[in-house]
Amino acid sequence: MAKLISGVKISAEIKNEIKEEVKELIRVKGVRPGLGVILVGEDPASKVYVANKQKGCEEVGFLSETARMPADSTEEQVLNQIRLYQERDDIHGLLVQLPLPQHINKNKILYAISPDKDVDGFHPVNIGRLVAQQEGFIPATPAGVIEMLKREKIEIKGKNATMVGHSEIVGKPCALLLLNEWATVTICHIETKDLKSHTRDADILVVAVGKPKLISADMVKDEAVVIDIGINRITKDMADEKLLEWRKEDFEKKGSTLVGDVDFQEVESRASAITPVPGGVGPMTIAMLLKNTLQSAKRYAGIR
Ligand code: NAP
Repeated sequence: MAKLISGVKISAEIKNEIKEEVKELIRVKGVRPGLGVILVGEDPASKVYVANKQKGCEEVGFLSETARMPADSTEEQVLNQIRLYQERDDIHGLLVQLPLPQHINKNKILYAISPDKDVDGFHPVNIGRLVAQQEGFIPATPAGVIEMLKREKIEIKGKNATMVGHSEIVGKPCALLLLNEWATVTICHIETKDLKSHTRDADILVVAVGKPKLISADMVKDEAVVIDIGINRITKDMADEKLLEWRKEDFEKKGSTLVGDVDFQEVESRASAITPVPGGVGPMTIAMLLKNTLQSAKRYAGIR
């Protein structure tokens, strides 16, 4: 059976480290890290993500503020809110929760955030810094993947890594980070002809697509390390017998459960290590966002 890589455990360790650094930063420099979040509209998943970010901030002793804006806010109003946060000395990181309502140009909003407060790392300047291996903000989910591998002492250098999914915010930066750690990286997407041939070649397989059971056991190399980024909510009517039994408690309590893109029950017996969903990459994302915000506050305080 594969070793379970617990994002819950690793993220708790990281948050404890951040908490200690925050105390020190306040004591020595009088600076408390601050995160400003902009939430436009009423998307239920976004509300949960924002609430979790706020909770994370409280846990480590950050200042956190959320500007909740109605779904019909104009682009100009959102840009104004960005400016307000940007001008403040007590807000060291700011982010706009995605997705945005259709009438708002996502890129226009994301590019308005100063790269030096862009703790999501989505600004092209920060993506460029990642490519050039210069100091900048790295998107939290991919950063969490690498942090997990490192803390689990999983060697990346020289390994074949396959990244399934090439989104700007997850797949591409994750592939770049693996490359920067000297893995030989293959990136797969919707036009990839024979996905299995690439996934089977991977010593480290990372999946970020959003399709349950995309990766079955026959697509995984023996003893591979499998990192499942996907998050899919499965309601009772969508679930098969096996899942209904496995996640019985969830279905009874909430009527649904969360799964990743990997058929966990099958793949678990083939891999050497695997992340669960939930409790894998998800909690790491928040921890790395907090780490980025701390990094920004330290830079503001003159600490490198
Ligand atoms: P996205 O923008 O929809 O990207 C999905 C990617 O998968 C695209 O690159 C797409 O390729 C590719 N793809 C689709 N079908 C495929 C197939 N059959 N074979 C190979 N590639 C395929 O989504 P995202 O933002 O990257 O998120 C991906 C998943 O991760 C989602 O489930 C999301 O909820 C989850 N996520 C989790 C966290 C976390 O904290 N754990 C954070 C962010 C996202 P094309 O573009 O060519 O269609």
